[in-house]
Amino acid sequence: MSRPSDRHSGLERNGERRELELQSSLIKAINEASPDGILVVDDEGVVANHNRRFVEIWQIPDDCLTGRQRGSAVGASDDPILQSVMGKVKDPEAFLARVKTLYDNPDISDHCEIELLDGRTVERHSTVLRAEDGRYLARIWFFHDITGFKQAEAALVELSLHDSLTGVANRRYFFERAGHEFDRTRRHSTPLSIAELDIDYFKAINDRHGHAAGDEVLKSIGSISQRLLRKVDLFARIGGEEFAVLLPDTNLEGARFQAERLRQAIANYRTTAGRCSVTCTVSIGVATLKSSDASIEDCLLRADLAMYRAKEKGRNRVEVDV
Ligand code: GH3
Ligand code: MG
Ligand code: MG
Repeated sequence: MSRPSDRHSGLERNGERRELELQSSLIKAINEASPDGILVVDDEGVVANHNRRFVEIWQIPDDCLTGRQRGSAVGASDDPILQSVMGKVKDPEAFLARVKTLYDNPDISDHCEIELLDGRTVERHSTVLRAEDGRYLARIWFFHDITGFKQAEAALVELSLHDSLTGVANRRYFFERAGHEFDRTRRHSTPLSIAELDIDYFKAINDRHGHAAGDEVLKSIGSISQRLLRKVDLFARIGGEEFAVLLPDTNLEGARFQAERLRQAIANYRTTAGRCSVTCTVSIGVATLKSSDASIEDCLLRADLAMYRAKEKGRNRVEVDV
């Protein structure tokens, strides 16, 4: 028959065992249910733990994870896990340099976004696991696939900078880029010009053919102009039926030439809208940045005045600021 003290310590051991079992099952469950890929590398550089999601995110081949020996340190550049991961990132040198820095500096916790060659983006968080007495035990790496979030973010930025009807840059984007180009022009003393376009008698087009046909005309002007212009030029819808073109590295004569090409192409185009075929013309004002201009708005104002002169002189023409 056992003594009361034996029974007591037996019960205590049972309790501790149950507690350990619970802890270990909990860690396993969290590990496997986690939406994050988890990799734990101990103080000797050996993988102490990894979960299914880690293998999925990095598409790690089975033979990289099985049969690993002590001493085959993760973090050494010839490590198969690291090799496999590096083969998938856009900038493997920067990736490796950061991994080495983290292994060499246990006190650093790290958070960054990694772009992959296949278009995905993975967010990485890394921190150190220490014993209660402060001893370094392992480094833990968390990986979260944020591709969907990044795509939604890029789509929102795209929406906020483009006109929803025509798909060309909107007023906000125009002034943002124009501001940058203004600074660049001042730094490098290169020319910068602006052309402002306004559709002639657009109200009459709407009245005669309907608002939907008017919308199609706006779209046509957007696509014709973008086809004709260079990649560095920016064509934007800055008002209801008003557009502006930013022409970097282009002097007044070059801008007048481009404006004339646009005017002719638009005048010769027929937009099909339902059963009707609609033609339209534009009046264009052109101005180039002067050393006395305090901002891009000064140049745009002169292009605007030139555009109104084109209207006064009979429309469907290009007028240049002098
Ligand atoms: P002008 O030759 O003097 O420029 O004459 P206009 O008729 O083009 O100019 P006005 O300012 O009188 O009319 C502009 C018209 O543009 C009125 C407005 O209904 C139309 N408009 C503005 N935004 C849109 C749009 O998004 N879709 C359509 N279909 N029409 C628009
Ligand atoms: Mg107008
Ligand atoms: Mg008009």
